[in-house]
Amino acid sequence: MTRIAIIGGGISGLSTAFAIERLAASRGLEVETVLIEKEDRLGGKIWSIKEEGYLCEWGPNGFLDNKPMTLELCERLDIQNRLARSDDNARKRFIYSDAKLHRLPENGPSFIRSDLISWKGKFRLAKEYFIPKRQDDVDETLAEFGRRRLGEEALDKLIAPMVSGIFAGDPETMSLKSCFPRIYQLEQEFGGLLKAMLKLAKQKKAERKAGKAVASAAGPGGVLTSFVNGIQELTDSTADRLQGTIRTGAGVEQIKKKEGGYELTLQNGDKIDAEVVVTAVPAYRLANMVSGLSIVLADILRAIKYAPMNVVCFGYEKEKIEHDLNGFGYLIPKKEGCSILGTLWDSSIFPNRAPEGHVMLRSMMGGATNAAAIKLSDRHVQDYVMADLREIMGIDASPDFVRIFRHQNAIPQYTTGHGQRLLALEEGFHKLPGFFFSGNAFFGIGLNDCVQASNRAAEKVVGYLERNGSEPESTS
Ligand SMILES: Cc1cc2nc3c(=O)[nH]c(=O)nc-3n(C[C@H](O)[C@H](O)[C@H](O)COP(=O)(O)OP(=O)(O)OC[C@H]3O[C@@H](n4cnc5c(N)ncnc54)[C@H](O)[C@@H]3O)c2cc1C
Repeated sequence: MTRIAIIGGGISGLSTAFAIERLAASRGLEVETVLIEKEDRLGGKIWSIKEEGYLCEWGPNGFLDNKPMTLELCERLDIQNRLARSDDNARKRFIYSDAKLHRLPENGPSFIRSDLISWKGKFRLAKEYFIPKRQDDVDETLAEFGRRRLGEEALDKLIAPMVSGIFAGDPETMSLKSCFPRIYQLEQEFGGLLKAMLKLAKQKKAERKAGKAVASAAGPGGVLTSFVNGIQELTDSTADRLQGTIRTGAGVEQIKKKEGGYELTLQNGDKIDAEVVVTAVPAYRLANMVSGLSIVLADILRAIKYAPMNVVCFGYEKEKIEHDLNGFGYLIPKKEGCSILGTLWDSSIFPNRAPEGHVMLRSMMGGATNAAAIKLSDRHVQDYVMADLREIMGIDASPDFVRIFRHQNAIPQYTTGHGQRLLALEEGFHKLPGFFFSGNAFFGIGLNDCVQASNRAAEKVVGYLERNGSEPESTS
C-alpha cells in the first residue's frame, strides 16, 4: 500500500485526491490517500455562506461550461442533476463608462452600434486586421499586446476590465501568454484576432453545413454554472467521495526528504510519512514548506505574487431598487475612478441567492491596481461601495444585509516571466522523485483549469506508481 499525501483542501487538492483514487483503482494499484488541510474547513476559496436567507459566495460563484473538466468531475460525482446554469439573461454583461452602463457587444453589428467605444477607437480596432503578428518570442504584457493590436481605448474599456474581472490583475504587469494562452495562439496561428474570428466563424459554418456537432450556442465565454446551494456543493461532494483520510485544522509546515519518500511536519508538531506528495496550496505556502528541500525553488515560488480583494455582498428589498438587474453585472475601467472593480447581480444569475422579494449584489474591491483597499475598515468599505452603487446604478437605499469578505491573497498574478518560472519549477521538482504539484498558482486560475491541472497531476502520480516509484516523473 503506497501512502500519498495531498496537501491543501481546495478544489485542486480535493479533485487531485479524487482523481488519484479513481485512477489507482482502475489500474489495480493499492493506495492510501491522506489529504491535509490547514483550516478547519475544506474548500479553500470555495465557500458558499448562507445567512438570513442570502447565499453569499466568498470566492468563485461558478465555472464555465465551455471547457469539460468541471462538468466531467460533476458527472463522476453524480451531481450533475444538481447543477444550476445561469440563464440567457446572464449573457448581458455591462461596462460602466462615461457615466453609464453599456451592454458589452457580443458580435460585430452590436459592436458597431454600441457607443462604448468611440468611432476613433472603433477604427483603431478595425486596423487590427492589418497589423502583422509579432515575430519575436517576447513575453508581452496584456497592456502591450492591447495597445499594439487593439489601441488604447480598447485596452482601457475592454481588456483592462476583463483582466480585473478574472485576475483582479494589472494589465501592465500580467503576461498575455500565461493569462490568455489562447489569445496568444490565435495571433500566432491566424496572424491576428480579427483574422482568427473570421476564419473560425467560416470554419464553424462549414462544419454546421456538413452536419458536424459544433460547440453550443452558449457563446465564446460559455455558460456560468453552479449549484442551487452554491458552488460549495462541488467541493463538499468531492470530499464526501474520498476514501482516504482527511485531516483538517493543522497545515504542513515543512517537507523533508527521507529514504523512500518524504516526512511532513504539521503545525501542531505531528509527523506524517508518505511515499508520494502532491501539493495544492498557494505558492507562498509551498515556498515555506519546501525551503528545506530547495532554496532555489522556494525563491521562485515566492516570486508568484497575489492580489488582495474585498468581496462585498449587499442584500436589498427588491422594491428599493429601481434598476431592473437584468443581466450578469458590470465591470468598471480604472479611468472611471470608482472604488470597486465591478458588481455581479448574483440573484439575477442563479436562483436561491436572496430571500423572496429581495436581491443580492456582490461587488469586488481591490485587486492589483488598488491593493490598499484590503486595509480599509468595514465602515469605509461599505461607504465606498454604497457611493459607487449610487453613482452607477442609482441605488440610494442602504442595504438591509451586508457581508464583507477579505482575501489578503485572493488570486495569483501570472506576471511576465511566469512561463519561465514554471519551467524552472518543473525542472526543480523533477529532481524530487514522488513529488508533484498542482493548484491555481501555476496552470490557470479558473475552476476548470484547477480541475484539469489536478487530473494531470493524478495521471503523473499513477504513472510514477506504475513504475514502482523508481523513476522521477515530470511534475506538472
Ligand atoms: C473572490 C474570487 C472570485 C473568484 N471567482 C471565480 C469564478 O467565478 N470562477 C472561477 O472559475 N474561478 C474563480 N476564482 C478563482 C478560483 O476560485 C480559484 O482559482 C480556485 O478556487 C483555487 O483553488 P485551489 O484549490 O487551487 O486553491 P485554494 O482554494 O486557495 O486552496 C488551497 C488550500 O490550501 C490550504 N493550505 C494553505 N496552506 C496550507 C498548508 N500549509 N497545509 C495544508 N493546507 C494548506 C488552504 O487553506 C486552502 O484550503 C475566484 C477567486 C476569488 C478569490
